[in-house]
Amino acid sequence: MSAQVVTPLFDNAYDEGWIASLPKVCLHDHLDGSLRPQTVIELAAEVGHELPYTDQARLERWFSEAADSRSLARYLQTFEHTVGVMRTAEALERVAREYVVDAAADGIIHGEVRWAPEQHLSEGLDLDAAIHAVERGIVAGESDAADRGHIISIRQIVCAMRQNDCSLEVARAAVRNRSSGVVGFDLAGPELGFSAELHREALDYCARHFLQVTLHAGEADGVESIRQALHEGRAARLGHGVRIVEDLTRRQSHAALADNVARLPHSHDVSLVPATSLYSMGEVAAWVRDRRIPLEICPCSNLQTDAAPRVSDIGATARTGNSSTGWAREYREHPVELLRSLGFAVTINPDNRLMSRTSMTREFLKLAHEFGYEREDFLSVTLIAAESAFLPLDERNDLVDRVLAGYSTSPEVGS
Ligand SMILES: [Zn+2]
Repeated sequence: MSAQVVTPLFDNAYDEGWIASLPKVCLHDHLDGSLRPQTVIELAAEVGHELPYTDQARLERWFSEAADSRSLARYLQTFEHTVGVMRTAEALERVAREYVVDAAADGIIHGEVRWAPEQHLSEGLDLDAAIHAVERGIVAGESDAADRGHIISIRQIVCAMRQNDCSLEVARAAVRNRSSGVVGFDLAGPELGFSAELHREALDYCARHFLQVTLHAGEADGVESIRQALHEGRAARLGHGVRIVEDLTRRQSHAALADNVARLPHSHDVSLVPATSLYSMGEVAAWVRDRRIPLEICPCSNLQTDAAPRVSDIGATARTGNSSTGWAREYREHPVELLRSLGFAVTINPDNRLMSRTSMTREFLKLAHEFGYEREDFLSVTLIAAESAFLPLDERNDLVDRVLAGYSTSPEVGS
């Protein structure tokens, strides 16, 4: 990214089409957060599940408003309705199939979709049957996309819920279903109060069987949760991880910082100042940065759930227990670009397309508008994601080649 360019570059539908066409790699997206509203309505009618609205547009708005309310209770309510209609093999298969088709339309060429099968067993499915149903849907969706000329691979990351006590059982199911497209294990659900340490047996099991692990950490809890994800989980990636910024300390005073920013031509953004000169890192941040442990950053989602410290407040207080830090409420306040400029391995992800009313394309558009991202920035975050995929090395290399080939044939914006 050119350091001086912060003006919006992408203003019209043509540009959105260009961004949508770029090959993308999506590492953090929830199956039960990405349903089509019409599918929720139809599946609810089939199983007799009561929804707040049965009009598609109104229901779609209800999902995003509830997710936007900054009330965890309302946010979790939204998942009651999606999980509530995904309790049969047929429903799981349909949702997974549509997920893949929608991902292909978003330009995704490889994605790793996560979900917690333990939440879908009340109608008689067991863990294996649920995983197999999703896999059938994924394979059908990949075939649908291929018929339309879009080659896409989607793999499953199986989550255990932090507040439940069946994580070892779930980890065993994940390991034994590798041949059904499972490539990783995650802990989802309430991070605060349910530490990774509580799931040590499951995490040890994954480690013993060399199943890749990415853990939600540094979203609803801070640096200690990230430390646990690394120690207990041996996490190869961090789900969100955005609160790693709470392990940064600003080297300069507010006044010196403002003076430095003011002297930069056309710049009003702290993140454009050579960041490594402004912040020192604690041991957790340094480890994550220096080891290039990928951060699965989900900006739109973070703004809804108060998960991202506001960039202008970062490092102003003590390294840990940063309770006085304000939360980013606008996209431009999100520390995504600060993390990149500090050298963290940042990937961009939607998290929950339905609740956050987002997509990879929309996140890229926002990055272009708010941070001046250009072609090489999109390419850079996409290559990091491709290299961080839970795939064998030869498949990752193929993925990198496909990304590079896609960018080499994609027309320049505006041309
Ligand atoms: Zn997530």
